[in-house]
Amino acid sequence: MRTPTQLGIRAEAMLAELAAFTDGDGNLTRLYLSPAHRAAADRVASWMRDVGLDVGFDALGTVRGRLKPTAPGRAGNRRLLIGSHIDTVVNAGRYDGMLGVVAGILAIEEILARHVELPFGIDVLAFGEEEGVRFPSTLVSSSAVAGSLLPSDLDARDADGVVLRDALIAFGGNPDAVTSAAYAAEETLAYLEVHIEQGPVLEAAGLPLGVVTSIAGQSRFFVSVMGEAGHAGTVPMALRRDALAASAEMMLTIEEVARAGYAHQMVATVGRLAAKPGAVNVIPAEVVFTLDIRADADAPRLAAIAELEKRFQAIAIKRGVSVTLDKFYESPTTPCAPRLQEAFAGAVLDLGLAERRLASGAGHDGHAMHHLTDVGMLFVRCRGGISHNPAEFATVDDMGLAVEALIKAVERLAADAVSSGDST
Ligand SMILES: [Zn+2]
Repeated sequence: MRTPTQLGIRAEAMLAELAAFTDGDGNLTRLYLSPAHRAAADRVASWMRDVGLDVGFDALGTVRGRLKPTAPGRAGNRRLLIGSHIDTVVNAGRYDGMLGVVAGILAIEEILARHVELPFGIDVLAFGEEEGVRFPSTLVSSSAVAGSLLPSDLDARDADGVVLRDALIAFGGNPDAVTSAAYAAEETLAYLEVHIEQGPVLEAAGLPLGVVTSIAGQSRFFVSVMGEAGHAGTVPMALRRDALAASAEMMLTIEEVARAGYAHQMVATVGRLAAKPGAVNVIPAEVVFTLDIRADADAPRLAAIAELEKRFQAIAIKRGVSVTLDKFYESPTTPCAPRLQEAFAGAVLDLGLAERRLASGAGHDGHAMHHLTDVGMLFVRCRGGISHNPAEFATVDDMGLAVEALIKAVERLAADAVSSGDST
């Protein structure tokens, strides 16, 4: 039996080994279905075999390691899924995604070493495509596992014109067997994922672990503001219809509304703006800016959007411009199941740590897995909240605690399944 520190040291060594599989030159870049993805997937498969799992690849390239129930009961035909992704962004860190896969493998090794009685099986999944960097799609491999991938998703092309379907064949996958990658809902107990927080909340709270309450829903808009161009030297201030000044007021309103949604971890961002005609001596006539808004539940996010629409119109009327909002993306909130939050929270308390719950502002494979089964997530503190960056870092001690918490959460679910006589 390993201590949390020993588990963390082992996790760090495995992550260092995985980080060597890169398509990049001197940096970690591992895109879906690339040679580096193949090499990393093969290494993960060999680790899974080493701890005694039955290993296979599904049609989309997800590595699956299967553990049979160690104490089969009425719940024995169901499977607990534990996973994360092994693809990365360009010039990535070594923890995002990979930590969840490594944690799953180490947890299994310990569960077997400790002779934990499992009335259900466990499948560890190493998804290949979460980040959506190579192809204009995200969560392809977890969507296939959840049974929600559309055949047309395989027609996506990367920047070099390579079709996903062909890249999959080159990898060794089978685009015609996509439906076979899906689990049946009735055979699935839940999906658990350990992931670095990718934000600064746990570090600020001085806590190594956090229980995720939901994966934030998000809405994205193009906001178009139409005013009137005019000579910067001749049109008096009172007679202007300045689309950019109006947009500036709208942006401050966005900040105000998002700050008021603090209790729902609301965040809103204007990340891009274009003003026309874009000359130093011309009053801006037309502005288009983006709005990205997220919260821990759908209702407060939708209410904030309605409030913004109302206040944008008031600003537009006051300033003699017009405004329209064009939604181009929406993703509903993925709630984490209360029973799985309790399992992780109990595990965190067992470790003598304070319990902290927080929503995930970033998307995760759990968003796709929610179509199949209940989702539970555990966050691990990362230094400075930095991720998608080579500076991404989690300590050995924090990672060890995360693996131990995952083991304890599985033990709790096993005990629940035994005491209820089933797994439901
Ligand atoms: Zn990730």
